[in-house]
Amino acid sequence: MNTINVDQIIRTDRKTIALIVGRDGKLMVRAPKDATNKQILSVIERKSTWIVKKQQEMIATYPQIGEKEFVNGEGFLYLGQSYRLKIIDRGDMPLRLDDFFYLDRSVLFQAKEVFIHWYKEKANEVISERVAWYSDKMGIQVKQIKITSAKTRWGSCSSKGTVSFPWRLVMAPVPVIDYVVVHELVHILEKNHSKAFWNKVRAIMPDYQQKIRWLEVNGHILKM
Ligand SMILES: [Zn+2]
Repeated sequence: MNTINVDQIIRTDRKTIALIVGRDGKLMVRAPKDATNKQILSVIERKSTWIVKKQQEMIATYPQIGEKEFVNGEGFLYLGQSYRLKIIDRGDMPLRLDDFFYLDRSVLFQAKEVFIHWYKEKANEVISERVAWYSDKMGIQVKQIKITSAKTRWGSCSSKGTVSFPWRLVMAPVPVIDYVVVHELVHILEKNHSKAFWNKVRAIMPDYQQKIRWLEVNGHILKM
């Protein structure tokens, strides 16, 4: 019974205690400001069967990710596919993707940096190419493309016509990358998420909502 961990308690003006299980199986409690720990624990105890069931369901339904360990066989995403890692001796470059990600043992101590460097290069290649394709198709002028380390957003657009994307976007399938590209390009024409904005997105990509859904479900696994 005491095996249930509360990962977060948020106290607000609400009147009742609510339990929320995240896609990572973490338990969040929303409680009134004056709720005592005893009251919260009593709700958790009463709902323990439901909590455990929900946690198992979330972990089974949504892909999970922990810290990377950089060990043989570990999966790394690129363009929506997971490739396993092989650590090799005397590789011709620090990191190379073929049927596996081949990482040279001599750079293992800085594996994370090596991967991020690789992802940044690929993001620049792939995203620049997609931006060129869609900006041409849509007749939009893009001044500059930036690859960033942003963690909380998938893209941004400046009033000067610079579009920015995080390198981790290159872990997503190409159709999802395309949606983010189209979204930012439309922002060059329409600053806000108005009806006109979404109409323009839909005109280019009728099934854009599927891509938004993909990012909602999988966005959290696109990271190092
Ligand atoms: Zn937007």
